[in-house]
Amino acid sequence: MTSTVAIDFETVIGLEVHVQLMTKSKMFCGCSTEYSGAEPNTHVCPVCMGMPGVLPVIEIYSIDCSLMTGSALNIDIQTV
Ligand SMILES: [Zn+2]
Repeated sequence: MTSTVAIDFETVIGLEVHVQLMTKSKMFCGCSTEYSGAEPNTHVCPVCMGMPGVLPVIEIYSIDCSLMTGSALNIDIQTV
């Protein structure tokens, strides 16, 4: 005879989604995103190359696009 113990579990599934926004510059620097057909490494700067000592500056328009996308998909957006 076998015995079974019932344990309540709540299944929580998180998703991390990566998208490419249609912005004119990259997320953390002013480098152009119009690199289609460009020579490699022609739209880069010390920030997007991750050089030591540089400080990224977030592009606010990217945040706006991300929030609008989240709202359109009815996603809970965490606030600080
Ligand atoms: Zn850059």
